[in-house]
Amino acid sequence: MLRLRTIVIATTMALAACSQQPEGAANPPAPAASAVSTSSAAPAATDMTSNPFYSASTLPFQAPPFDKIHDADYQPAIEEGMKQHMAEIEKIANNPEAPTFENTYVAMEKSGAMLSRVMTAFNAVTGANTDDALQKVQEDEAPKLAAHEDAIYLDSKLFQRVQTVYDQRDTLKLDPESARLVEVVYRNFVHAGARLSDADKAKLKDLNKEESTLSTAFTNKLLAATKDAAPVIADKAKLAGLSDAELAAASQAGKDRKQDGKYVLSLQNTTQQPELQDLTDRATRQALFEASWNRAEQGDANDTRKTIERLAQIRAEQAKLLGFPSYAAWKLDDQMAKTPETALKFMQDLVPAVTGRAKVEAADIQAVIDQQHGGFKLQPWDWNFYAEQVRKAKYDLDENQIKPYFELDNVLQNGVFYAANQLYGLTFKERKDIPVYQPDVRVFEVFDKDGSSMALFYCDYFKRDNKNGGAWMDNLVTQSKLLGTKPVIYNVGNFSKPAAGQPALLSFDDVITMFHEFGHALHGIFADEQYPTLSGTNTARDFVEFPSQFNEHWATDPKVFAHYAKNYQTGEPMPKALVDKMTKAGKFNSGYNMTELVSAALLDMNWHMLGADAPLQDADKFEAAALKKDGIDLGYVPPRYRSSYFQHIWGNGYAAGYYAYLWTEMLADDAFVGFKEHGGLTRENGDRFRAMVLSRGNTEELAKMYKDWRGQDPQIEPMLENRGLKDAPKK
Ligand SMILES: [Zn+2]
Repeated sequence: MLRLRTIVIATTMALAACSQQPEGAANPPAPAASAVSTSSAAPAATDMTSNPFYSASTLPFQAPPFDKIHDADYQPAIEEGMKQHMAEIEKIANNPEAPTFENTYVAMEKSGAMLSRVMTAFNAVTGANTDDALQKVQEDEAPKLAAHEDAIYLDSKLFQRVQTVYDQRDTLKLDPESARLVEVVYRNFVHAGARLSDADKAKLKDLNKEESTLSTAFTNKLLAATKDAAPVIADKAKLAGLSDAELAAASQAGKDRKQDGKYVLSLQNTTQQPELQDLTDRATRQALFEASWNRAEQGDANDTRKTIERLAQIRAEQAKLLGFPSYAAWKLDDQMAKTPETALKFMQDLVPAVTGRAKVEAADIQAVIDQQHGGFKLQPWDWNFYAEQVRKAKYDLDENQIKPYFELDNVLQNGVFYAANQLYGLTFKERKDIPVYQPDVRVFEVFDKDGSSMALFYCDYFKRDNKNGGAWMDNLVTQSKLLGTKPVIYNVGNFSKPAAGQPALLSFDDVITMFHEFGHALHGIFADEQYPTLSGTNTARDFVEFPSQFNEHWATDPKVFAHYAKNYQTGEPMPKALVDKMTKAGKFNSGYNMTELVSAALLDMNWHMLGADAPLQDADKFEAAALKKDGIDLGYVPPRYRSSYFQHIWGNGYAAGYYAYLWTEMLADDAFVGFKEHGGLTRENGDRFRAMVLSRGNTEELAKMYKDWRGQDPQIEPMLENRGLKDAPKK
């Protein structure tokens, strides 16, 4: 997934890098230490000048100088960054000249350089390499950052100028991107409450602050809860079925946690855990599943239920203040889907097909259990274990047979990068001279089709205890022609790290994740915008997963696949019979997979369609009732995330937006059909897609952008077909 800012900042407001010249950029040099730093920094200036965030990085692409950045640098830089930004904003708001596009909108785009520098780096390390000190800074600063953002959006003098230019927009002869900027920024102000009375603004500020504090608390509680909930197992016999690699990882996790000689099954952020597929001992499976399911419901300090119950209530109150019936209605107002009802109907329409398929799969699994005289009814902790047997029986495919063909570096260079080369002409060169925040992080320079240097790409693929779960992409530097910045992008994953000297062998799911995150990276790398607010992945949530899900398709393109799927020891390509089995097996379990996704998405939408008049909910009861209402409460298919550990919606800015994964899948599958209709993997197709979609950021209305490229609105059939659901029984 794409990780939106943990701290509410810069998703809507331009806080991009500064206008100093990046090394290698074509723009003329700006004066050193621009207006940004001279106006405001009086008291702290002497100390601040040695702070690594004080001036623009002198590294290539203005990459953050992680070799010089210490934990202690973040907090003062965030504080100073906010101070500088506020001084710039006040200067814009109090400008004696009449408001113009230049002195208002463009000036705002240029503001906040230092804050942007520190926050992009801070988001990267707190997401992927956090520690107690950083978490403390996060907790301290989250409410201040929220208040900072409010102070800008709720500044009535500033909004008056924004409004004046907006009202004149049709007479200003703006170019299309500038006209779009006016619309987007104006709407952001209105959505943030700029038109509210002073009393209501004060109320909204308080709610925003509380929301931000609770959201950060949720994230940190969940990280601790997930770590604590990992089952510790002394008796190796209980782990029968695990592969040597899984056992070694569990043993290493035991050592890391000072539980030498014991085995620790570290939890992933999803409900299901990878080991559940292999563990033969049913009691261990149940224990692992329950540890996952109940991780954040232990009644201790890390229990998240009270936090989310209040969060849901606060969000409904925010929406009401702004004149929307629910949080979802507010958040979808500027999305491709437009209303929660449209999104809800889209999901509810999927329920019969996905649950119908899941029930067929469940019957297959129950048959295996009965055949083996199991004497029990299928439970969620049995699903993956028996599904794997059904898969082997029906498809004769063992994950461990295919992993040797997916060595990480090979997948990256000969798969992910190769596809980008074939489609877009990109080439990549590893750079060991760019400082990183953790030794496992690698950096590549990206070259365009004409050989010119265009971006940096960092990847941080291995699981760590101090990393949030899942996978995501973000920018360290956002592209902007106005600011003279080129993209610096990173991908984070949670793949198992091999023991020293061993190859990192991936599952096919991991391979898909790499292609997915790199699809986001391409959206950032190809960004060709004037304004940072409209640049790259700064698009609607129900569009932003489209390039990433689309890019997943290339993992199975025959030419790309043949180029990377080679045995790491022999270099032999994957035998055709195995490829065929894998392709066939790709649709296996799709009923389960889609049902758990749709359940989670429905939970999210139901939580956020609550009105402000609804009473405080009981998290467990609400969850059960919501799943029942939508006819998706199959006990053996729990939601992919339970409410109490649904990081996307309570911590990461995806509230009322999880449906977007399904929505964009519709776009991605439809788009891939569009490619196939024109010859598939060709430079011509790639260049056209880049020109009309991937390089366009949020510079025009997204439904129109899609339709102009595709020649028609997106259709749902390719998605159902791709998932093997087209002919699924409907009941
Ligand atoms: Zn994504």
